[in-house]
Amino acid sequence: MISVAIDGPAGAGKSTIAKAAASGLGFIYVDTGAMYRTIGLACMRKGVDTGSPEAVVPVLGEIAIDVVYKDGEQKMLLNGEDVSGEIRTEEASKNASAVSAIPEVRAFLLELQRDFARKNNVIMDGRDIATVVLPDSRVKIFLTASPESRARRRTAQLAEKGIEADYEKVLSDIIQRDYNDSHREAAPLKPAEDSVLVDTTEMTLEESIEKIISIIKEKIE
Ligand code: C5P
Repeated sequence: MISVAIDGPAGAGKSTIAKAAASGLGFIYVDTGAMYRTIGLACMRKGVDTGSPEAVVPVLGEIAIDVVYKDGEQKMLLNGEDVSGEIRTEEASKNASAVSAIPEVRAFLLELQRDFARKNNVIMDGRDIATVVLPDSRVKIFLTASPESRARRRTAQLAEKGIEADYEKVLSDIIQRDYNDSHREAAPLKPAEDSVLVDTTEMTLEESIEKIISIIKEKIE
């Protein structure tokens, strides 16, 4: 099986680019952020403080998380309920970032993530795919862009979904989330030594997709 790891900060376009590249190559796209978001949502629903490992860890034993594919789209099930829409709010993003710093949460998801790569050709996106989850990935890409351009894109993306968002607030949330993700002790966000760095600040979405597909093709063919 062939694995492609795409890591990078929030809003760099990882999911859109990885999804397009996966469908172009016939690989399965695995969004690991959605898994952290689902755990964050489970905690929110239970009224659990996501900043407290003592409160979050017991929740892991009480929930069932399943990843299913419907019409080629990854869907997240929490105790059988499709929560794919609900995990996309800004509040869910913050809770995902908080729970993802807890080592037990990362360990809980690790096998699920590795299992996908054992059984399928995957493009997996996240923060620690090349460094921790699939260190033997055939292709490792670190995708980034300036915080301002990521905030602009995120604001536009939310607007498209009918969610009104304030650019300055989105920007400060992105900067905060970058900081949390790269300064935590457990699997911090960083490129692997052998990752290819791609900065999409000055690229259109089409150019970014083309670039990623060409990097992947070059390494797998
Ligand atoms: O990629 P996305 O923004 O959906 O991820 C939500 C949060 O989950 C991130 O801010 C990050 O804290 C966490 N995450 C992680 N490791 C991954 C994927 C996501 O820690 N592999």
